[in-house]
Amino acid sequence: MAFNAKVYQEISAALPAGVAIVAVSKTKPIQDLQDAYAEGVRDFGENYVQELMEKQPVLPADIRWHFIGHLQSNKVKYIAPYVHLIHGVDKVSLLDEIQKQAAKLGKKIAVLIQLHVAQEETKFGFSSDEAIELFSAAIQEKYPNIVFSGIMAMASFLDDTEVLKSEFGEAKRIFDHLAPIMGSEWNTLSMGMSSDWQLAVQEGSTLLRIGSTLFGSRN
Ligand SMILES: *Cc1c(COP(=O)(O)O)cnc(C)c1O
Repeated sequence: MAFNAKVYQEISAALPAGVAIVAVSKTKPIQDLQDAYAEGVRDFGENYVQELMEKQPVLPADIRWHFIGHLQSNKVKYIAPYVHLIHGVDKVSLLDEIQKQAAKLGKKIAVLIQLHVAQEETKFGFSSDEAIELFSAAIQEKYPNIVFSGIMAMASFLDDTEVLKSEFGEAKRIFDHLAPIMGSEWNTLSMGMSSDWQLAVQEGSTLLRIGSTLFGSRN
């Protein structure tokens, strides 16, 4: 299946003002992204640096590329020149590297702090306590080339509405808690995927990351 424009329109129409969609195109061929672009999609999400490096140069320059995967520090330099938003910052050392590469380019790079709210132990991210401790200090002064734009969270892979609600709710709580400290550019709460975006929106998401519902299931 290629890009499903009808579903994209339906989801877009169902969203409250201020909530946007990142079309998650990982593993999908260039043609699918071109189809989505032709339907007005400008925000694309990719998980793998190598794949993003192949896609970015051959697709329109006004695409906003969201890096939503687990990012290794030694690969930041490859995406730093054009990435729009790095969603999964889960380590201080990764912030250090993003700062370094952004400064080298004389630009600012926007990031989201990944918060670990799910029950699964394999998920990356800071705990709520770590996030509060780390980001309550004068973090912007330490990272002048980083724009702290908000939080990214993934809920458990469960079919339990109450659990998902409480996990998304926890991300929203930390997002709100840090908002007065982090300033005016702290405006993005990235949560909600194909299976749970409605709940995420109810709990305050401002940015959904939707893949398989739009592009078909991945191999
Ligand atoms: C793959 C991926 C998505 C999209 O998942 P779907 O279930 O296909 O919508 C969203 N967020 C992250 C971090 C992903 O890796």
